[in-house]
Amino acid sequence: MQAQRLRIAIIGGGIGGLTLALALQQRGLAADVYEQAPQLTEIGAAVALSANATRELRRLGVLESVAAASTEPTELIYRSWQDGQRIAAHPVRNGLRYQQRFGAPYYGIHRADLQRVLSTALGGAGLHLGHRLHTISDQGDAIAFEFNNGRSIEADLVIGADGVRSVICEWVTGGEGVTYSGTSAFRGIVPASQLPTLPDPQAIQFWMGPNAHLLHYAIGGGGEDVNYFAVMEGPEAWRDSGSMAEIEPGRALQAFKGWHPAVTEMIAAVPHHKLWGLFVVRPLLQWHRGRALLLGDSAHAMVPHHGQGANTTIEDAITLAELLAGTTASGLDAMMAHYQSLRRARTRKIQRSSWATNALLHLPDGPALAARDRKVAAFPEDFAWIHEFDALQSARSGQPSGMALAG
Ligand SMILES: Cc1cc2nc3c(=O)[nH]c(=O)nc-3n(C[C@H](O)[C@H](O)[C@H](O)COP(=O)(O)OP(=O)(O)OC[C@H]3O[C@@H](n4cnc5c(N)ncnc54)[C@H](O)[C@@H]3O)c2cc1C
Repeated sequence: MQAQRLRIAIIGGGIGGLTLALALQQRGLAADVYEQAPQLTEIGAAVALSANATRELRRLGVLESVAAASTEPTELIYRSWQDGQRIAAHPVRNGLRYQQRFGAPYYGIHRADLQRVLSTALGGAGLHLGHRLHTISDQGDAIAFEFNNGRSIEADLVIGADGVRSVICEWVTGGEGVTYSGTSAFRGIVPASQLPTLPDPQAIQFWMGPNAHLLHYAIGGGGEDVNYFAVMEGPEAWRDSGSMAEIEPGRALQAFKGWHPAVTEMIAAVPHHKLWGLFVVRPLLQWHRGRALLLGDSAHAMVPHHGQGANTTIEDAITLAELLAGTTASGLDAMMAHYQSLRRARTRKIQRSSWATNALLHLPDGPALAARDRKVAAFPEDFAWIHEFDALQSARSGQPSGMALAG
């Protein structure tokens, strides 16, 4: 059987599923994407895209459309929780420093805008909305699955791009993947004009304090909105069956009592009725079983402190598309093992590093702050290995440590 005739099914039309479908389409391979939602609209959340992803979006021909809906931060700034003191600042858009160093831009974008750009480029080909996967069965050289709308499908390969609570991950691992991180969050989007006390509203900023931090950056073509994400330690255990739990009014503000007015103003600007539990996928030994393969959060969901969940998902998609383009049905097992070997070590390293950063961002006032301050001052070069990575080059060379090609 020729690669072009492989029946490829992607479960999940999120960032990973859509990027993979587009990358496959550009390599002459058709895939069907099955998304549970009736429409591709994620409300109230944004994503920061770093060079390891934007260089791939440029190759996919969508970077201009992404740029039109994005804001490039002026600087990356670390601040103290109470007095707002600037602990460290690194230029991003200023002096074009980030692009010059990493060969591609850094953008903040609303998630719905990113999904719109990707699905527009895809042209709706093979996108099936309102399909929630519930059952999978191994057919040897194929895989069969059923959706809650009654449809049954068979494919030569199914890719689980179905996020952190993945049905495919459960099937591949026997249900061992997802676990609560012990941290939770509130998020919101506020017009920049409603934040009079916020210094440097066009920067990406971390406000670091005891047991919590708040991260924000501007989004929209002109930086008109500020997206924020406030993370706290606890609750110790997550009792809700989903990732969101109801909270009483005022709980969010209470958690940041005594913080700088820019932080409390931002939290107070959005009504918070829900607390968001941060779930991760434990480092998995195996990313595939039979003809099912994992991609993105289903394989390596991480705490968001390096802002790398979506970026590594885009890396996965490019790697997989490039490997699949040269594969026939008889080569699928070897291709899946190769994909796993290229992606597992890197994503594990980023997962671990994101988790180590959690403690650094949540230190109480005291002598340990001096070491923290030295670390955040060195962050851009310490984490250059994340941003300079080139997924396409890694897939082509077969080396897990792809370094960016020029430009
Ligand atoms: C608060 C927060 C902030 C973040 N900020 C950043 C950031 O700044 N930068 C960054 O790189 N990453 C960030 N991330 C991580 C990023 O959002 C994820 O890593 C990324 O969305 C993963 O892409 P994905 O395609 O694997 O999953 P998703 O984008 O979650 O997509 C999964 C899709 O699968 C669908 N689906 C689920 N189950 C089924 C089913 N049974 N049948 C059919 N469809 C199904 C869902 O509806 C969804 O559309 C953040 C994460 C969080 C929690």
